[in-house]
Amino acid sequence: MKGYIHSTESFGSVDGPGVRFLIFVSGCPMRCQFCHNPDTWSMKTGTQMSADELLDKAWKYRSYWGKSGGITVSGGEPLLQIDFLLELFKKAKEKGIHTTIDTSGAPFTREEPFFSKFEELMKYTDLLLLDIKHIDDEQHKILTGHTNQNILDLARYLSDINKPVWIRHVLVPERSDNDEYLKKLDAFIQTLSNVEKVEVLPYHTLGEYKWKELGMEYPLEGIEPPTEERIRNANELLHTGK
Ligand code: SF4
Repeated sequence: MKGYIHSTESFGSVDGPGVRFLIFVSGCPMRCQFCHNPDTWSMKTGTQMSADELLDKAWKYRSYWGKSGGITVSGGEPLLQIDFLLELFKKAKEKGIHTTIDTSGAPFTREEPFFSKFEELMKYTDLLLLDIKHIDDEQHKILTGHTNQNILDLARYLSDINKPVWIRHVLVPERSDNDEYLKKLDAFIQTLSNVEKVEVLPYHTLGEYKWKELGMEYPLEGIEPPTEERIRNANELLHTGK
């Protein structure tokens, strides 16, 4: 079995604990207005690689991982290629590698055949970085083109099975940077029992040129990154400890 891979990075330091080998898969069902990787949206543009090929590549960097590092699969959206992810993580765990998924949660459903595969995948997954893009469903649809209902359901499910999660929230002025929404998001996070960390990721414009290169209009044209004061405010409201 082969996965569609956009790229890899040998020394990731923010997508999970320690130093990590990052695997960015191709394909994403969301259309986030702030996306800085719109070149990962199409699955077929990726290079096809097997789990063994990826693990051989990652394994070269194991001496840098120490006790906490390992591999993180990001995207794009890893759960779109759940069969491949399952094979990759099974093999990674055979080698004792710490495994992390960075997901938007968009493909999650309790319907079959997805749900059984996901349950199985969780046996081989140490940590999930779950992006909650907006707590309000209508605003979530505007921001990402997708409902947040199944994403919040995923958060609840992960709490029920006590799987460690880091919640990440991109702070976008005129979209998610609003005290009422941030308080609502915080109240939701407080209902979960498995959250090890909450992170505010300030919106940035570094991906804007990619939209233009792909011939697409940038939806957040003219919206500046949040100020230091608003970032501090969001960290406070979401109790990130920063
Ligand atoms: S989920 Fe991630 S990759 Fe997909 S559109 Fe949103 S920001 Fe981009």
